Amino acid sequence: MNITVERLPEQELKPLFADPTQLGFGKVFTDYMFTAYYRKGQGWVEPKISKLKALQIDPAAVALHYSQEIFEGLKAYAGPDGRILLFRPEQNARRMYASAERLCMAPVPEELFLQGITDLVNLEKRWIPKAPGTSLYIRPTLIGTGDALGVHPADEYLFYVILTPVAAYYKEGFKPISLYVEEHYIRAAVGGVGNVKTGGNYAASLLAAAKAQEKGFSQVLWLDAKENRYAEEVGSMNMFFVFGRKLVTPNLGGSILPGITRASVLELARSLGYEAEERPIGIDEVIAGLQDGTLTEAFGSGTAAVISPVGSLFYQDQNHVIHGNQVGPVTQQLYDRLVDIQYGRAEDPFGWVR
Ligand code: PMP
Repeated sequence: MNITVERLPEQELKPLFADPTQLGFGKVFTDYMFTAYYRKGQGWVEPKISKLKALQIDPAAVALHYSQEIFEGLKAYAGPDGRILLFRPEQNARRMYASAERLCMAPVPEELFLQGITDLVNLEKRWIPKAPGTSLYIRPTLIGTGDALGVHPADEYLFYVILTPVAAYYKEGFKPISLYVEEHYIRAAVGGVGNVKTGGNYAASLLAAAKAQEKGFSQVLWLDAKENRYAEEVGSMNMFFVFGRKLVTPNLGGSILPGITRASVLELARSLGYEAEERPIGIDEVIAGLQDGTLTEAFGSGTAAVISPVGSLFYQDQNHVIHGNQVGPVTQQLYDRLVDIQYGRAEDPFGWVR
């Protein structure tokens, strides 16, 4: 595949953000973006890296009216030897492919996805921050363009990739989050699109998240849509419950996102000798486990935070503290192992890092 590169003159490049610890998340963008178009009868054409700029799309574009929009999220890390590392990017390519098929969009071939990202990140390597815990967040996006208002799949698509250097998620060390168990709103039902990384899922989650934050909680823990009983996932993380040497995570029943960190935690935990189960886990089982002490830790898993300890659960007017609102040893061990692999500081027996 031949990607056209339109380089900017040196003097037009933005200055790097001076203090990477103050970057926050997704506020600063690099100089370039990758774009490619899908046109009916032609397939994927015009793969190009050029200056990051505003998009021009038709006001009738399908993405804007009927939400044919999907995205991905992954990170590039600066390795200790100067290498640039990506963590399981082919998994993101495959998830985006599956998301596209579910929403009747033209899927991005894995090769185009990986080549676009690799070339863009290589060109932008000066933007990969090097301070501990920092990284370059990669946001591949696919939108239905075209220009007719009937409810139908678009006949044209734009795939683009933008990059944003991000600060360490835990600036002051690992900090447990507080979760509000949501019983009124639901995130997704089986048979819907909860297992797809599409913007609408996030739009639908904003009100519950805002209300939980108003009450002082970090995020909501979603329950299943049918029985309002089984734990599903958190805002942008999958959920793990730790019972001593056993980890339990909700099974992928179609309503939760198949997280890449989730899959990696499962594999890693088993390799470390933990038992790891994927099955429905009721909120009643969780609360009972906290009351009788068998549930020892809980954490979320996702690209942004990698692993996020959960310090408390608020359910039916009661706050339940987990592991004294401190980071437990299992959570800590899995986090340390995973980030060491991601940053190239430890051996990668799984072949995850590229
Ligand atoms: N669930 C949701 C709803 C998410 O947005 C994310 C973040 N992509 C995850 C789980 C975790 O997925 P991953 O480990 O692939 O980042």
